[in-house]
Amino acid sequence: MKVPRLLEKKKYIIPPPPEPIEKLTLKNALAKDISKLISTLVKQKEAEDHKKDYWLSFIEKANKTERELIKIAREIFGDQEAEVLRNLDNQKAIKGKETQFLPKLAAMNVIWLAKFLPFVKELITKIGADKLEEVKVGGQIQLTTPAMTSFFKYKVAALVKNINKTTRKQLAKELADGFAQGESIPNLKKRVQKVFGHADKVRATNIARTETIRISNFAANQAYIQSGVVTAKEWLTTKDGRQDFACDELDGKIVEINKPFVRVGDTITGEGQEMNIEVENVGYPPLHPGCRCTLIPVVL
Ligand SMILES: [Zn+2]
Repeated sequence: MKVPRLLEKKKYIIPPPPEPIEKLTLKNALAKDISKLISTLVKQKEAEDHKKDYWLSFIEKANKTERELIKIAREIFGDQEAEVLRNLDNQKAIKGKETQFLPKLAAMNVIWLAKFLPFVKELITKIGADKLEEVKVGGQIQLTTPAMTSFFKYKVAALVKNINKTTRKQLAKELADGFAQGESIPNLKKRVQKVFGHADKVRATNIARTETIRISNFAANQAYIQSGVVTAKEWLTTKDGRQDFACDELDGKIVEINKPFVRVGDTITGEGQEMNIEVENVGYPPLHPGCRCTLIPVVL
């Protein structure tokens, strides 16, 4: 027999039987968990947004500093180029004595330091004040602490020395090749221009990029130490798609303010790659040339 249509409909308007107590409790518990989860996710999202704003603002300032530093490096390379070209005009070429056309290493260092050192000091002072303000302490960063002295004496001086050694090495090789082939002064000058052309286009940018990150983060780290209120620091990786795997691995790592993130002998592994920490303990970025990471202060 066929079921009448009306009856068939009625079947659907009967309310479902009440749920057993246990099921209701379970449901409430789940709802509570879900709201807790949502609140955690919202907090995480806020923290992520805050971090993103933090590195965007860091990178914006770093890009500006980088452009200023590129300009300084190019000026110095330009002065050095003019000096070598003048020497080629004024001195007699003697085979095997290429370095006679080059300024002395010490003199090159003095010229670099004369322009670079005031820039570094000014940058540390500015970032130091910003960072002390950020952690609500205010005031100026001290430039005469042992950590500062050691940074200027070893890091900055070593950097300048290495830059000039590279320049001299490249020039000496070019001139030696030119002399060996008995080239004329105009041709030797072209070789010198080639070395400084590369310095202008490639080396100035590379130096400015890595040193901006180093000086900025050194200043931030020192300001946090000097503040007396920052107890720890967090590694913040700029997630612009250009970051290195090792920086991704360090992202979010928190260490005491005076401690390094990684030590000599440590190996960072990730994405099937490895990075061995060889030269020195790393207390602040950069971790590698071209690194664009920074620090977040942890105030407890
Ligand atoms: Zn990095």
